[in-house]
Amino acid sequence: MTSADSAHTYFTKAARIMDVGERIETLLMTPTRELRVQVSIELDNGEIRTFPGYRCQHDNARGPMKGGLRYHPDVSSEEIHGLASLMTWKTAVVNLPFGGAKGGIAVDPGTLSLKELERLTRKFVDQMHEVIGPTRDIPGPDVNTNPQVMAWVMDQYSKYHGHSPAVVTGKPVELYGSRGRDSATARGLLVVCRQILQDVGLPMKGMRFAVQGFGNVGSHVARLFHDAGGVLVAVSDVNGGITNPRGIDVPGLFEHVRRNGTVKGFGGGEACDSNAVLVADCDVLVPSAMGGVIDKHLAKDVRARIVLEGANAPCTPEADAVFEERGVLVVPDILANAGGVTVSYFEWVQNLQHVTWDEERVNTELERIMSEAYEKVGQISRSRKLPLRTSAYVLAIGRVGKATVLRGI
Ligand code: NAD
Repeated sequence: MTSADSAHTYFTKAARIMDVGERIETLLMTPTRELRVQVSIELDNGEIRTFPGYRCQHDNARGPMKGGLRYHPDVSSEEIHGLASLMTWKTAVVNLPFGGAKGGIAVDPGTLSLKELERLTRKFVDQMHEVIGPTRDIPGPDVNTNPQVMAWVMDQYSKYHGHSPAVVTGKPVELYGSRGRDSATARGLLVVCRQILQDVGLPMKGMRFAVQGFGNVGSHVARLFHDAGGVLVAVSDVNGGITNPRGIDVPGLFEHVRRNGTVKGFGGGEACDSNAVLVADCDVLVPSAMGGVIDKHLAKDVRARIVLEGANAPCTPEADAVFEERGVLVVPDILANAGGVTVSYFEWVQNLQHVTWDEERVNTELERIMSEAYEKVGQISRSRKLPLRTSAYVLAIGRVGKATVLRGI
């Protein structure tokens, strides 16, 4: 099942509960624009390679569209479409004045040199610069893209349109990036984790957690949750993982990753494969790698009481149904990992106003927005007796639907 299928299933379930009607349902589901390009570059050895690139602009009823750029071999037009619609619902859940978009290139960036990656990024911007922009569509980082890639996007776009830092977020702090952006998604996850633990009566101190993925999201989750008193019992990246029921030495793990580029081989626990982490004995599981990793079979074996979706669409709808049946609480991606886009919004605001916020202000505002969103979703869940995911969609669809109707169809 693709991300598009998952997003469609969740959307339809909530839309039917809300009785929005077939006309509005179709309108809200259909992307505004889908761009597909062939990104051709010359490799360092003189060969020419061509990679398919995509940008899907899903909805702009609530503001300019916003969503990351992903460089991964599995990127496809269906996946980008699904992830773009997730962004529409995510920005609405946290009430940012944005719509949703997503883009990417089907490439394994690990096979490219830095110069080739730069040429690829600049060429992609050449092909989409007319449809993105600070008031149209603002890309940001996602899987395998980072502040350096965002800096190239800004520079290349500015060659066409004049100095435009607000065209892209997740830039380096030295080049109009926001303080606190690198850890924002994990910090947002921490805010909702604290709130749900409070709701179920579990203390943060001593809470046992497992993380799949050790990139931007997963590594900061490991650090921030550990600093807040949590005990990391399992962690993995694409190469492999480790478990230790007594707790993994997090600073030691960071040192190991700094030296070796992977969590694999860290001595402070027992080696396991990447997916074994998903079924580790823990209180909170934070899948923070790729989509679709928890299907209905694996969901039966998950031992966590709470699943916090750090990644986008890590659970298939069938897995979600198994969790509901088993009473495992799932905090959905469109709420749980919205901290990243929230601080991207702060970055856009700072760029447009030519100001710089200090990190304390960023974190305080982030905490306020994430807490309010969690509260609102919780209220819907309690009053309508719905799972958190459906409640988050109900909140988002209500906001996007209202804006669509007010603007006029
Ligand atoms: P990243 O490229 O920085 O890191 C991805 C990590 O996942 C890497 O450690 C990689 O080794 C690991 N990984 C890949 N395949 C794996 C596998 N099969 N098993 C275990 N680990 C695997 O990406 P990221 O920015 O951290 O994004 C991770 C997820 O979070 C994605 O789904 C992304 O869409 C989502 N997300 C990211 C942000 C953000 O701010 N970066 C915000 C919201 C959601």
